[in-house]
Amino acid sequence: MADVEVDNAHQENLKLSKMKKKVLRKQIKAQHTLMRHEGIECISHTTQNLVIANGGLGNGVSRHQLLRLVEECGLVEALLMPPNKPYSFVKYGTTEEAKKAYDALNGKELILEDTSHTVILYVNFVRKVHWEDIMPTNLPPGLKVVDEFVSPEEERMMLESIDWTGDEVIQNAQKSLKHRRVKHFGYEFRYDNNNVDKDKPLLGGIPEICNMLLEKCLRQEYIKHKPDQLTVNQYEPGQGIPPHIDTHSAFEDEILSLSLGAEIVMDFKHPDGCTVAVMLPRRSLLVMAGESRYLWSHGITPRKFDIVQASEGRKVGTIAADTGDLTLNKRGTRTSFTFRKVRRSPCNCTYPSVCDSQQDQQKERTPMFAGNETAAAKLEQEYVHKVYEEIAAHFSSTRHSPWPKIVEFLRALPEGSIVADVGCGNGKYLGINKGLHMVSNCVFLILVAVVC
Ligand SMILES: [Zn+2]
Repeated sequence: MADVEVDNAHQENLKLSKMKKKVLRKQIKAQHTLMRHEGIECISHTTQNLVIANGGLGNGVSRHQLLRLVEECGLVEALLMPPNKPYSFVKYGTTEEAKKAYDALNGKELILEDTSHTVILYVNFVRKVHWEDIMPTNLPPGLKVVDEFVSPEEERMMLESIDWTGDEVIQNAQKSLKHRRVKHFGYEFRYDNNNVDKDKPLLGGIPEICNMLLEKCLRQEYIKHKPDQLTVNQYEPGQGIPPHIDTHSAFEDEILSLSLGAEIVMDFKHPDGCTVAVMLPRRSLLVMAGESRYLWSHGITPRKFDIVQASEGRKVGTIAADTGDLTLNKRGTRTSFTFRKVRRSPCNCTYPSVCDSQQDQQKERTPMFAGNETAAAKLEQEYVHKVYEEIAAHFSSTRHSPWPKIVEFLRALPEGSIVADVGCGNGKYLGINKGLHMVSNCVFLILVAVVC
């Protein structure tokens, strides 16, 4: 009997050590991934600070759930959850508490509250908890978000006025795009050339129900001209729209977008790589004018949860870079009414790098390839525009990780060095070493901006 007991104990020990080995292997793998993709160095001695791999907003872990877990091990001084990342940082009051959390949480299975999916946490010590604030807290210049612009009653009526079913009427062509449902009024918006047929207005124009709202916008001087084109988009949770700038030659300056049914986070990007996430509350009006309309791209990331401020009271406007106050918010069905005024003369904005009107004029002045222009434009449309349109969101989201060798190189340069980042992608190296003067050409950013 004694032998059997010893044997069982031995088996148990074996099983335990096998599990421990597996956790150790995964923990080391997490260390390498953090170093390789994020430049985060894990260390072997105890500190007050931990990095929790798989415990990030990017894994679907909510701030609420993680905070409860880490607080069980001691007094938490800070819990930083960077947006979209698969890890978090936690800082404890003492190294003893951090060690306790390390022992308790490394290899721990966590069932996510919102989705019932499971993640396994891998915990490592880091020297300090820091996250470079990549998102400025100011709105892009020219952007406004007006809270509660319509009443719940007006919202209901506007939503009911859109008939998504049995849309055989040719005038208001409904497009079931891959990412969302779309309907056009006033003028059809063409996705093949991102422009409107200016000589072919649709019968019926903009629905009567929108008039009051547009008059209010004129009175409050959000717009100079009354819009004559309306695009209604309906986004289910998980759907989005790739980053784009509304074609300059197609529409005048001010663009209005009313959010109905649910709130959503819209991402604005400057060509230099700077990103601002803006909360558009339900029933709010977004006004894009000037720089925010002409130079910044805007888009909605296809996902089921948005990253938002955890604390109440700061609903409208930017999602601050305060990574100590971010959590996940489940999306609902959002219907947007986007009003634009069709442009009748070429755009002469002050942003020629993203202005199709001014680029066309430039081409006319340099007739080198004049004969081939149509053929070249076709080729470009087929092999560049279409491809980028398809892959833009994925392309951008997969190019966020700096290469460690390049991070190492940039960090080693003396302060004040001038660096040209040619083919910089989405500008992921811009913030690595603040002491450098970085110049980027941002080919990709411009492509994303112009094309989509
Ligand atoms: Zn322009």
